[in-house]
Amino acid sequence: MGQAYSTIAFDASKCDGCGECMKACAGAKFESDDVRRSLIQIMPKAAAATGVAAKGAFELALCRQCGDPKCVTVCPAGALGKDGATGVIDWDASKCVDCLLCTIGCSYAGIALDEYTGRVSKCDTCDGKPACVPACPTGALRHVTTARIYNEVGGWEDLFAPGLAGCQGCNTELLMRHTLRRVGPDTVLATPPGCVPGMGSVGFNGTTGTKVPVFHPLLTNTAAMLAGVKRQYERVGRKVTAMAIAGDGGASDVGFQSLSGAAERGERILFMVVDNEGYMNTGMQRSSCTPYGAWTSTTPVGAHTRGKTQDAKNLPLIMVNHRCAYVATASTAYMEDLYAKLDKALEASEHGFAYLHVYSPCTTGWRFQSAMNIEVARKAVESNFVTLWEYTPETGLSFSRPVDRPLPVVDYLKAMGRFRHLSPEQIEHIQNKVEENLRFVQKIAEKEHG
Ligand code: SF4
Repeated sequence: MGQAYSTIAFDASKCDGCGECMKACAGAKFESDDVRRSLIQIMPKAAAATGVAAKGAFELALCRQCGDPKCVTVCPAGALGKDGATGVIDWDASKCVDCLLCTIGCSYAGIALDEYTGRVSKCDTCDGKPACVPACPTGALRHVTTARIYNEVGGWEDLFAPGLAGCQGCNTELLMRHTLRRVGPDTVLATPPGCVPGMGSVGFNGTTGTKVPVFHPLLTNTAAMLAGVKRQYERVGRKVTAMAIAGDGGASDVGFQSLSGAAERGERILFMVVDNEGYMNTGMQRSSCTPYGAWTSTTPVGAHTRGKTQDAKNLPLIMVNHRCAYVATASTAYMEDLYAKLDKALEASEHGFAYLHVYSPCTTGWRFQSAMNIEVARKAVESNFVTLWEYTPETGLSFSRPVDRPLPVVDYLKAMGRFRHLSPEQIEHIQNKVEENLRFVQKIAEKEHG
């Protein structure tokens, strides 16, 4: 078990750019009132994510005290090192040769050149009591342990019976348990055929697997049936969350007509899609969300065929075009982001249709080792194969994770056996498609915020 260190967390939605944190830092570290000397820098949200500056939005440049710090790796002089007791990355001025490579190695702009001394400077968290945090008047900064989310939600009720039956290493169980923990017991759940009921949401041998009312609709009618259930509860005066946890196949293929209809009518339900890019629990067949080139049992690799020949359908963007009350993409590699989006989706489902699309790698069908699930999920996001964003009709579309400086897509593809056969031309096709998709989403974000 790794140690959970404390770090400074930033909530951009609470920051108004007042600069009090920078003043506190410059004062505490250098007895200076020049905020340029501050080791924490708040700046207008840039174009990094969208290509345009978002009005009134700010972002942070600060040392994240990374678990796997690139600055330490690139330093040729051994001047940087992670302190095993505190988690802080220390800088040893006596060893530093002022090459500034670390300022390039850090992708968070967490190490900067101090113009006064001509040397690097970085946050050391003020010996565990960072001056910037109490100085922030809006609560945008907090000093928390990296495992905070698990410490916080661990006590909430797990609404699935113990003993769900997933494949080894599958993170759908993690997703189900965390999601229902957050959504809470006043919920009626719909789980159409797929991995979720296969894992046990509807129970085995006459027992229930879920501690809330759960039903098992057809692939074709999940959203319509759930909308009817919600309306009946409203009719008898009971306030419940009506939620579906569906697979990508059921949602994007035969179930799409009922999903689209419910979104068009603005039914007050929360529809979550667990996207493992195929019909994985029935033999790993392709769905319309399966990416180009992927091996599945219905898009085999042989003398004449080289995996799927079509690109994946982008279901969350299609839902944006329904002008749902809330649409977001999420990943099991970014659980805090998922929790934040669940909060917003729940709120939106009180007055309209909320849609959450969660990318969830399939250990068995994607052909990778069971310990690698979160790593694969993270690489998908880091390469922009998957982008994380959210949309409301009022605020438009905005990225919730920067999309600049992505990993080459091949770094993601080579993490899985299902892409092992790809030719250089197929890899190029996928890289081009990822970039094209990104430009498309950026244009939507730009239009909303420009
Ligand atoms: S500037 Fe100093 S700390 Fe940064 S990489 Fe060079 S030697 Fe290491």
